[in-house]
Amino acid sequence: MIYLDYSATTPISYDVLDSYDKASKEFIGNPNSLHGLGIKSKELISSATKQISELLGTSEQEIIYTSGATESNNMALIGVALARKKMGNHIIVSKLEHPSIYKICDYLKELGFLISYVDNDSDGLVNFEDLKNKIRAETILVSICAVNSELGIREPLKMIRQIIKKENPNIIFHSDMTQALGKIPVIVKDVDLASFSLHKIYGPKGIGLLYKSNLVKLVPIIHGSSKDNELRAGTPAVALIAAAAKAIRLGIQDLDRKETFIKKLNEKIVEDFNNYDGITINSTKYSIPHILNVSLKGIKPETFVHAMEEYEIYLGTNTACSSGDVSPTIMALYDDKERAISTIRISLSYLTTTEEINRFLNCFSIVYKKLGSLNMVN
Ligand code: PMP
Repeated sequence: MIYLDYSATTPISYDVLDSYDKASKEFIGNPNSLHGLGIKSKELISSATKQISELLGTSEQEIIYTSGATESNNMALIGVALARKKMGNHIIVSKLEHPSIYKICDYLKELGFLISYVDNDSDGLVNFEDLKNKIRAETILVSICAVNSELGIREPLKMIRQIIKKENPNIIFHSDMTQALGKIPVIVKDVDLASFSLHKIYGPKGIGLLYKSNLVKLVPIIHGSSKDNELRAGTPAVALIAAAAKAIRLGIQDLDRKETFIKKLNEKIVEDFNNYDGITINSTKYSIPHILNVSLKGIKPETFVHAMEEYEIYLGTNTACSSGDVSPTIMALYDDKERAISTIRISLSYLTTTEEINRFLNCFSIVYKKLGSLNMVN
């Protein structure tokens, strides 16, 4: 099997699984219970939180556990909107967000909030002038992803923060950092709120994080009995939290070395793809090498992905969450429907090998030919 869909999800690291297994067996108490077993579980959470906060450069109180980035995004956007509705009803997001952000925005529109979508330049960076122009006195929140999930475009969050805070220091700045953690260094202090998901960095599915600066107030979206965690009631997922700490510790090691290796693989694929007339590279110079998005002229991505599957090669379409649709990201960048309905995403990992890429390119050529659209330049 050759797995090239690491941005959809990653296989769990066995070291992380080991932590999960041990914590599940040894820490059986509910951390909300008063007895010794409960206290033991609570202590495990505290020690995991301490580790995570040190790794991310936050304080322990600034880490909230969720079920994944979708929930973190909901908690952040809805939480800020409800907490600040007396200050204003205007929210700005980029045109390169994950579908979960747009769905939340649709919900917030129903509640009476106004949403503006900031333009990007032709390489996908947020257009600073447009951002400045869109900020108003009623703007309460700006949300811009650190790395776009489809094309891998990396946004300059520090500069974006400076623009936002200069225009209006009261605006809360959220970033969906799901595709950034474990791929590039993340600086959470560039933003006020940041969403993460552990299954994207070789951790288990079903756990995410929200970094929330101590200065930000949120209205909770989950209600129930909560002693220590006002923002997310319910029994904390002790073993998942222990596994999260391990996944982050391992996931952010050696980023430079991993990136250099992945870049070489990416360049090898691009070089090969340049021989095909019908392939357009959609990733831009601001894309991280882990994500390579291309359009295959006249080919349905689902058909292509299933044909590759026959060789046990697994690729992504649009995004894992909305396969088969017109890609809003490609539309925002290139305004080309044909290109936007024919994208596949190849996402790489430090676990990918050169041999895998060689085999992928061979099988790619066979499938491309079989689907009747091969147009070699030379
Ligand atoms: N945001 C981004 C940028 C993502 O790539 C994803 C996963 N496709 C999500 C949010 C949703 O994450 P989760 O599956 O943890 O809810």
